[in-house]
Amino acid sequence: MKRERKPEAGSFIFQGVDLRREFENMLKLPVVRTYLWETPTLKVRHGKYTGCSGMANYTKKTVTVTIRGQATLARVLEVMLHEVVHFAAFKQHHNDVFIARLNRAAHEHWGIRVERLSEVKSAHRTLGAHRGRKAYQVDRLLTELLSGKFFRAASYKWLMRSA
Ligand SMILES: [Zn+2]
Repeated sequence: MKRERKPEAGSFIFQGVDLRREFENMLKLPVVRTYLWETPTLKVRHGKYTGCSGMANYTKKTVTVTIRGQATLARVLEVMLHEVVHFAAFKQHHNDVFIARLNRAAHEHWGIRVERLSEVKSAHRTLGAHRGRKAYQVDRLLTELLSGKFFRAASYKWLMRSA
């Protein structure tokens, strides 16, 4: 049994963005509200190594975002949206329904989306039929689009005000 580290005060703020507020805003997106199975609570953990990963737990009704060194804001937010969409696509684990809702949520929230979803191919097709592969490829594309948007917008807070 893995023991959760209790987040320290202020740890919900990442690069000046309040992740709790972002999470609340994601729960209000039309596509999320339409299909929401249960309202999850957010946990943010800070781990070792690099990058960012997430976990949606249907039993505990939690979304956990683990932030590590060198994680970018775009990656952290995209991971969080991905996990929120798991609660708006119950038992549709990384299938086309899940991917379509993730893409729609990204469009509703940030005005970005992966065009021609049906043409997105797994980057690791030869490694086997892991059905998460295409979803992860969409994650990567959305993160790139979001990074570009941040770059143009200079800061995410500015982007959210103008949205
Ligand atoms: Zn997932």
